[in-house]
Amino acid sequence: MNLRQNAAPTSPGELLGLLRDGQARTRAELATQTGLARSTVRLRLDALMHAGLVTGGNDAVTGGRPASRFVFNARARVVLAADVGATHATVAIADLTGEPLTMERLALDIADGPDAVLGLLIDIWRRMRADRVPTVPIAGVGIGLPGPVEHSTGKPTHPPIMPGWNGYDVPARIAAEFAVPVLVDNEVNLMALGEHVRCFPDEAHMVFVKVATGIGSGLISNGQLHRGDVGAAGDLGHILAPHGGDVRCRCGNSGCLEAVASGPAIAAKLHAAGLDATNNADVVALVQAGSPIAGQAVRQAGRDIGEVLAACVSLFNPSLIVVGGALAEAGEMLLAGVRESIYRRSLPLATERLRIVTSRAGANAGVVGAASMVVQHVLSPSVLDRELA
Ligand SMILES: [Zn+2]
Repeated sequence: MNLRQNAAPTSPGELLGLLRDGQARTRAELATQTGLARSTVRLRLDALMHAGLVTGGNDAVTGGRPASRFVFNARARVVLAADVGATHATVAIADLTGEPLTMERLALDIADGPDAVLGLLIDIWRRMRADRVPTVPIAGVGIGLPGPVEHSTGKPTHPPIMPGWNGYDVPARIAAEFAVPVLVDNEVNLMALGEHVRCFPDEAHMVFVKVATGIGSGLISNGQLHRGDVGAAGDLGHILAPHGGDVRCRCGNSGCLEAVASGPAIAAKLHAAGLDATNNADVVALVQAGSPIAGQAVRQAGRDIGEVLAACVSLFNPSLIVVGGALAEAGEMLLAGVRESIYRRSLPLATERLRIVTSRAGANAGVVGAASMVVQHVLSPSVLDRELA
């Protein structure tokens, strides 16, 4: 494969992009793959090795003499990552593939405000780094938050469940402690990114749906996270559900998908039917215990979600829909309802190759996504070439 047949010579950053698949290559192989002269490959590799991002060794034999193979060094730098929910967080230090090297989950309250929550994250990262990777440079920091975020500035925008966070300059607060790039995004976007990077890297068009206390989605389009104009893309929970009726939603409207198919909405229906259910975990436990009423309620929620998703399928034509979040643990019942509506409501061409599956990255999707967001940024050719220049 010739990467850029009619373009300028491949830059160091672009050469690294080739090596990031983890496969070791000789200079000759890299020259063939890029179409660059070997002398140019040597210069590019020198720059990457000087930065520690590529390592080499004599381990290939071509034509009877040893040739150095070169490989991406994912441990050259680390990424500080956090997936912050309303009542919990997952905090990690990851390598340059986005894979966590060390990770912990903790309880917190997002309503304590940005100073308390971000201060806690900073303390944990400092301790983790001292314990595990004290001398490895930090490439950047990635944070997922449970509300809308203007990705370009890293500031939350009118988050409904995050008092004190509106417009708060998260990157400035973090960069005062760690002088590196700081990227912030909505947690559902990062779950979509983590699921994509970790489990479905070959799916170019994917929808990740989180069904939990709220309902939201993250869109992967052409292999990239699609955030939309102001970061509001994927807000599935407040689309009008076909059978939403006049059920009030916390957003102020009525008939929203979230108001009829979220964990609390299902729990309320079960409670009204005389079952002991108040939250997501209760709903999942009842389904897993074989309660037919709970099973049917979850399946109906799946159908409601599927009816809204059917419109997304017609509009967006994904090849994969991944259903995650706490309610996905209810398993086949939720998925069966989603599939039922989508296949009934969509045209055959749009569903010809469509797969609908439950999350594989599970509880780590968000933190892997937060780390991957940073890796994609700091190792992108434009950013890396500027740094190496
Ligand atoms: Zn709503």
